[in-house]
Amino acid sequence: MSDAPPTLTPDILSGAKARMRDLAAGYGAALPGLDTHSLMAGLEGVQLTFMPMGDRDGAYDPEHQVILINSKVRPERQRFTLAHEISHALLLGDDDLLSDLHDEFEGDRLEQVIETLCNVGAAALLMPRSLIEEMLSRFGPTGRALGELARRADVSASTALYTLAEHTTAPVLYAVCAVTRQGDDDEEGGGKALTVRVSSAAPGVKYSLRVGTPIPDDHPAAVALDTRLPIAADSFIPFRSGRKMPAHVDAFPDRHRVMVSFGLREKGRDEA
Ligand SMILES: [Zn+2]
Repeated sequence: MSDAPPTLTPDILSGAKARMRDLAAGYGAALPGLDTHSLMAGLEGVQLTFMPMGDRDGAYDPEHQVILINSKVRPERQRFTLAHEISHALLLGDDDLLSDLHDEFEGDRLEQVIETLCNVGAAALLMPRSLIEEMLSRFGPTGRALGELARRADVSASTALYTLAEHTTAPVLYAVCAVTRQGDDDEEGGGKALTVRVSSAAPGVKYSLRVGTPIPDDHPAAVALDTRLPIAADSFIPFRSGRKMPAHVDAFPDRHRVMVSFGLREKGRDEA
């Protein structure tokens, strides 16, 4: 279906993302706050309605000037959806960006690009650059910074993780790990294990941790979750292949999961 994407697309998309970020950040900066009520303050005449919506998270209806949010999903998801729908409204208000998108994309691909942009806008709205920079300067590019960002912005850990990774300049890989049930049988054989739920790395880092990668029991991330105490230690990245790459680990437990950063050594040193 989309087997012949124009080669220029990535640049156009990244340009559009940057504009969407600016649009959302500008909108957010003029608001009295970032709570639900305040988030709506910049959209004059638009009503906000919460209702059960089945599989859908939400919708923006420009004709009737209403944003609908599915009241049956988790609050943090409702919040992200609200920011996403506000981004739809902002995008519809930007004729230049909109006409660029229509020039460049069509059909399903256009829809897909618009959804991506509205997620970019939502993240920029809920996690202003100043907040991200404050977290990074106070805590460094660490699991703790990740946990604090998610808490302060009131977003899911995975939303915070992708945004923090994008803004991290040091060679760091982040992960959110949680205990999952292992194996097919839930009899005695089906144990529980700490595994990677979501992971992302700073730009330029070529390693990644796959979802489902198990964390060994003696790894600082596992110990931090067990003891409920944050740990920073020289340890390793437990790649699924079994390879252990040396890394400075910062593990920050948060309820039933643990936010982890893996600081890689500078380039050249990990070639061996
Ligand atoms: Zn959407």
